[in-house]
Amino acid sequence: MFSPRKLYELERERNALASRFADLQRQRAAELQLLDGLGEALLAIDADRRVVIANRRFIDLFGGMDHVGKRLTEVLRVADVLESFDRALGGEEVTCRFGVRSGVVERRIEMRAQPIASTTIAVVALFIDVSKIELLEQIRRNFISDFSHEVRTPLAGLRSAVETLEHNSDRLSPEDDKQLRRIMARQLRRLERLVDDLSELSRIESGDLTLDIRPVELRPILDDLVEDFAEQSVQHRVRFEVRGEGSAIADSNRLQQAFSNLIDNAIKYGGDDHRITIDIRDGEVRVSDEGEGIAPPEREKIFHRFYRIDKTIPGSGLGLAITKHLVLQQRGTIDVESKPGHGATFIVRLPRPAATPQRPSEASR
Ligand code: ADP
Repeated sequence: MFSPRKLYELERERNALASRFADLQRQRAAELQLLDGLGEALLAIDADRRVVIANRRFIDLFGGMDHVGKRLTEVLRVADVLESFDRALGGEEVTCRFGVRSGVVERRIEMRAQPIASTTIAVVALFIDVSKIELLEQIRRNFISDFSHEVRTPLAGLRSAVETLEHNSDRLSPEDDKQLRRIMARQLRRLERLVDDLSELSRIESGDLTLDIRPVELRPILDDLVEDFAEQSVQHRVRFEVRGEGSAIADSNRLQQAFSNLIDNAIKYGGDDHRITIDIRDGEVRVSDEGEGIAPPEREKIFHRFYRIDKTIPGSGLGLAITKHLVLQQRGTIDVESKPGHGATFIVRLPRPAATPQRPSEASR
């Protein structure tokens, strides 16, 4: 039998142990919470390749639950990943990239595995979603190759004109001389336009644009634009028909810029001697031409920067990319409808003012 004093000491030790145990549990819970709060997925395994920690982000990314205690091969089945864990267990720091399907999207993941000198954890690995970074890397590569391609054509034209002038200046007729200078001026204008459009696009894309968003009447904006295009429309024998009216919450200058690109294209691709119709209804504007139209596979691509269906028609291929960004930044949408051979219709939909009075036809419905 224990003496009362001994019993008292044992009780005190038991309480101290219980309190220490509670402290440890609280500490572990806090650590797990910290790991769950981590933006990246984390998995830790022991020397027997059993899971010790799998944070919440890991479960979001790879599915399943209650991974702790499971074998690594039950949790992850990607051969490259398992091999990387093997190498990390051998004492190496390893990085590898792999794809994982999450719902309908394929994500690109970078895994960084690191050996840990501890009794419970042998390897800890972070899984970082690099899909966005890879996409941006791809966009950057495409951009550089597209841009060099676009610049090369006017530069080649300029170089050949300059060389002809340089080597044959005393043998050229005044007409040839004039023509060469015209070519040079045209190619220079092409380069200038490319650079101007590009810097405008980059300004818009970077969000470096202050918008003056307020309720605007759409009809006056489009009427003014049609007037601005008077000279071009005479030159191409284009007739404008503007119908309807409507209002939107938008920046009128930026809207003007967006519609100006659409009208410019309608004149350019609508062919000579044709009609351009502009239909306004509520917050929607439809710009239609009677040109060749746009085949279904091209309809999305024409909004990509530098994309041109017919490369022989001069243009920077940036107008629609600029227009789309302008419309999106004003919380609108842009679509194109077309029956190839029968023209194209560009449809811009914009947010409408909350207190837009109903049109009489609507009110009576
Ligand atoms: P650009 O006109 O300078 O080439 P855009 O970005 O404005 O550049 O247009 C991209 C491409 O989309 C054009 O090169 C053309 O092939 C096609 N496109 C644009 N508008 C029309 C239209 N109204 N009808 C037919 N094709 C069009």
